[in-house]
Amino acid sequence: MFSRLLIANRGEIVCRIVRTAHRLGIDTVGIYSEPDAKSLHVDRVDLAVALGGATPAESYLRADAVVQAALDTGCDAVHPGYGFLAENHSFAELVVDAGLVFVGPPADQIRLLGDKVESKRIAARAGVPTTHIHEVVPGMVPPGVTMPALVKASAGGGGRGMRIVREAGELKAAVEAASREAETAFGDARVFIEPYIAGGRHVEVQIFGDSFGNGVHLGERECSIQRRNQKIIEEAPSASISNGTRLSLFEAAIALGREVGYENAGTVEFLVTPDGSISFLEVNTRIQVEHAVTEAITGLDLVELQLLIAAGEALPFRQEDVRFSGHAIEARIVAEDPARGWMPSTGVISTFEVADHVRLDTGVRAGSVVVPDYDSMLAKIIAHGPDRTSAARSLKRGLRTSRIAGPDTNVATLIAILDEPEFLAANTPTTYLDQHPEVADAVGATGDIEQMLLLAAVFVLEGRTRSEKTPTNFAPSGWRNLRTQGQRQTWTSKGKSHHVEYVIESPRSLALVGPWPEPNEDGSMAGDDRRRRYVRILERTDDRIALEVDGVRTNVSVALTGGNSITAHMHSPSGFASFTLAPRFDVPEDDQLGTGPICPLPGTVIGVLVQPGQQVDDGDVLIVVEAMKMEHAITAVGPATVVALPFAVGDRVDAGDLLVELEADSA
Ligand code: ADP
Ligand code: ADP
Ligand code: MG
Repeated sequence: MFSRLLIANRGEIVCRIVRTAHRLGIDTVGIYSEPDAKSLHVDRVDLAVALGGATPAESYLRADAVVQAALDTGCDAVHPGYGFLAENHSFAELVVDAGLVFVGPPADQIRLLGDKVESKRIAARAGVPTTHIHEVVPGMVPPGVTMPALVKASAGGGGRGMRIVREAGELKAAVEAASREAETAFGDARVFIEPYIAGGRHVEVQIFGDSFGNGVHLGERECSIQRRNQKIIEEAPSASISNGTRLSLFEAAIALGREVGYENAGTVEFLVTPDGSISFLEVNTRIQVEHAVTEAITGLDLVELQLLIAAGEALPFRQEDVRFSGHAIEARIVAEDPARGWMPSTGVISTFEVADHVRLDTGVRAGSVVVPDYDSMLAKIIAHGPDRTSAARSLKRGLRTSRIAGPDTNVATLIAILDEPEFLAANTPTTYLDQHPEVADAVGATGDIEQMLLLAAVFVLEGRTRSEKTPTNFAPSGWRNLRTQGQRQTWTSKGKSHHVEYVIESPRSLALVGPWPEPNEDGSMAGDDRRRRYVRILERTDDRIALEVDGVRTNVSVALTGGNSITAHMHSPSGFASFTLAPRFDVPEDDQLGTGPICPLPGTVIGVLVQPGQQVDDGDVLIVVEAMKMEHAITAVGPATVVALPFAVGDRVDAGDLLVELEADSA
C-alpha cells in the first residue's frame, strides 16, 4: 500500500478521500489555490502545497505543478478526485511518467472512454445499446437528423455543452453554439448529435475492475433529479426500473468494462426510456460525486477499493459476495437560489451545523467563504434506511434540522422535493424539476411554524436591544408616544410581508400578528381581527431562544446578518425561515410634511451625515444607527430636502422613531 498520497483536488472530495487514507495509515498531501489557503480540505491533509492563483486554470488544473508537488513532498501516489484533472488522460500519463501511481484507470482507458463518441463506439462493439449518433464535421450540418435532437460536446462533462433542438431549422445554429461553448469549456470544439430521449431517467452502474481481469458491478444509482443536466438528488437502488431492466443495465456495464479491460472505479451512465429500454450515455472514469449512496447500501468503502486496486491488489470479493441492503438517498446542498433559476450565490457561510443522524460529506464549515471560482456544491447529505420511504423521511429531517446560513442554498427546495407526491411515488424523469416549478419556490417553514419563528425573531431582537439599554441614557422620544401602545414591526420573508405589534408584559407578552387595522371611510376603526398570540420567553442567549407561544414551547436558534437592514435566520427542529426587518421608509407624500425614514430597530445614533436644508437624493446616507453590534445606514428614497434632525450622535433611538424629517422634492 502507498505511504503518502497526494490528493489533486479541493473541497469535500479531498476530505472524503482523507478519511479513508488516514484510516489505512496513508499520509496525505493536499494542494491549494490562494482563496483556499484556509479551506477545510487544507486542514484535513497532513501537508498542503500552495499552487497560487485563483481560477482552476491558475491552480488545480496545472498538471505539471501538481505532479511536482507530489514529487517534492515524497508522495508515491496521486488521487485525482472528480472534476479538475480526474478525467484528463495527459495528467494520468504525467503522473505515471514521474514514477508515481495514478489512482484511477490507465491513461488510455481514460482517453478512450472520456470521449463520448469514442466510448459509444466501444459500447456498440460490446453489444451495449446506445443511440445512433451523427458526428459533426465542422461547417457541415448532417442531413436526416430526427427531431427532437440533442447536440452534445464530445469532451463534455458536468452537464455543459448540451443543446436541445426541436426544429430542423435550428440545428445549424445549435451546433455552432454548442461547438463554441465546448471549445471554451473543454478546449475541444467537437460536437455530435443524438436523439433526445423525452421522459427518460438517468440510471448509472458503478463498476470496478482490477489488473487481473476481474470486474464487478456494485449496483445502480438513479440520478434523474437534475438542474442544468446536473444531478441534485441521487439514490440507490433505482425505484423506477423493473428487475429485467436492472439486469440489462448490469450486463451492459460489465460488458463495456470487459471490452476495455477496465481497471479501478468507473460509472457507466444510461438513460432508461419510459418503456424500460436502456441507452448508454457515457462512462465516468473516476470516483463519482454520488458514490456514497452505493457505499451505504453495500457497506463498502469505494475509495479504499480504488486505492487497493491502484496499489496492484486484486478485487477483494467476487460479484456474488456483493450484498445490497436498504435504500440510500443523497441530496447535494448547493449555494444556489432555485427561485432565481438556480443562480449561484457566494459569500461567507455564517452558520454550518448538520444533523448527526445522516452522513455528511463536505468541504466547508462556519466561516468558509464561497468564492465564484469553483463549483457551488457545499455538502452532500446522505440518509440510509430499510426502504426508500424511510430514507426519504430521514434525509428530510436531516435537511430540516441542519443550519446553514450565509449564501443562498437549495435546502428548502430539497425538502420540498422529498415531500412531493410524484417524488415519493418515484415518478421522476430527468425533466422532473421543469415539471415541478413549485419546489423551486419553497421557502422553508409555513403556517404556524413560520409564525412561531417570526415571533422568535421579534423577541430575540427585542431582548438584545433591551439588554444594551440602560435606564439613564434612554429617553423615549415624543414621536414614540404618538404611536399605539404596542411596538409595530414589519418583516419580510421571500417577498411576503409580516406585520407584528407587540406589548411586553410579565409573565406573558402579547403579540398581534397581521396587517394593521385601518380606519373605515367614516374614520371609525374597523374591528381588529389580528391573531393574538401570548408569548413567554423561557430562555434567551445571543444565538438561541426558548419561547412558548400559546403554551407550546420550542427552541429556536438565531443568526443575524445584514447591513442596512437586519436579517434574522431562524431555525428550529420544526422548520426554518429568514426574516428581514427592512428600514421602513414612509413614502413622502406631496401634501404631507414631516415624513422621512423610520428607525428600523432600537439602537444608538453614531453618525448624522446631513444638515437641515440640505438636498438629498435616492440612496444618500442620512444617518447611521448602531444596533446589535452592527451599523445600519439609513438612506434617502427619492429626492428630498432635510427639514429637521430630531436626533444627534449618541442619542438612543427606538424602532418607529422618525429619524430625519424630510420634505419630498416635487418632480
Ligand atoms: P457526477 O457524474 O459524479 O455527479 P458531475 O458530472 O456532476 O459528476 O461532475 C462532477 C464535478 O466535476 C462537477 O464539479 C463538474 O462541474 C465537474 N466536471 C465533470 N466533468 C468535467 C469536465 N469534463 N471538465 C470540467 N469539470 C468537470
Ligand atoms: P455529462 O457528461 O455532462 O454528465 P451526460 O451525457 O452524462 O453528460 O448527460 C447528462 C444529462 O443530460 C443526463 O443525465 C440526462 O439528464 C441529459 N441527457 C443526456 N443525453 C440525453 C438524451 N439523449 N436525451 C435526453 N436527455 C439527455
Ligand atoms: Mg454524465
